[in-house]
Amino acid sequence: GELPEPSEVIVAVTEAYERFRANREGAVADYIPVLAEASPDWFGISVVGARGRSFEIGDVERTFSIQSVSKPFVFALVCEAVGDVDARRLLGVNSTGFPFDSLVAVELNLDRTMNPLVNAGAIAATSLVPGSTAEDKWDRVREGLSRFAGRELSFNERVYASESATNLRNQGIAHLLQSYGRLYFDPDEATDVYTRQCSLDVTVHDLAVMASTLANGGVNPVTGEAVVGPGVCRRVLAVMATAGLYELSGDWLYEVGVPGKSGVSGGIVTVAPGKGGLATFSPPLDVAGNSVRGQLVTKYLAERLGLNLFASV
Ligand code: GLN
Repeated sequence: GELPEPSEVIVAVTEAYERFRANREGAVADYIPVLAEASPDWFGISVVGARGRSFEIGDVERTFSIQSVSKPFVFALVCEAVGDVDARRLLGVNSTGFPFDSLVAVELNLDRTMNPLVNAGAIAATSLVPGSTAEDKWDRVREGLSRFAGRELSFNERVYASESATNLRNQGIAHLLQSYGRLYFDPDEATDVYTRQCSLDVTVHDLAVMASTLANGGVNPVTGEAVVGPGVCRRVLAVMATAGLYELSGDWLYEVGVPGKSGVSGGIVTVAPGKGGLATFSPPLDVAGNSVRGQLVTKYLAERLGLNLFASV
């Protein structure tokens, strides 16, 4: 299948925006001090079809740090580099049922792997990015994510400094993983590259292009570049369906029926295989760290645009 006619998509996106614009639920993240500067009113929606057509409304030009929305894309790069068999063995692919920054989850899983979409598994994934130095790994991450976006992404120094000064917990996770042989590079350097990765700036349009690349078998529909292979995309989408919204991933799949990934700066990407990518940006979050408006918009648009994977009619 494909997305509905362009005129229908435009109407649906506009109606979604108007419908949820006045929603005041949720709270802007403040555990990374700079993120607390975000306005709860920022709100943007972008849909990019698997052939590169885009439909967008609201704050589509505003940049924000990508945060955890980087995770599936870095996992994709790692899967492409080491293969999906080793990627699963080294990182794990099961949902944890715990918050994204949980250490208990690592302790409770007997083989000490997590999944690449929570912090532990994501830091482990970053540690597996090819490159013998942290600088090499960081170049690979930045170039790879830029290829997904179809443009050179810039690095937000302020967000990086703010998170680096406060990320003792992520450092703890990295050291815990290392103690179990489940980290594949120096823990402090891996955490640093991970923190840089989370500090790349994107717009909601960039996120929709990135999502659409996953919807299009790994070929960026705007630039035509093959970023990763179709087999990698399938694995990435499977993990997004399992764990993309942390401990609320089951609720998300039940309601929306499409793989998604959220981040604490307020972004959510959703991938409708073969159809396209959808991205929302709205900073107020629920208790798990998922954008409130983003979830409402995505649920609404998934229904209006016929995206649910489990729908047979
Ligand atoms: N950089 C953030 C962290 O590691 C990302 C978390 C998120 O977006 N859920 O805490």
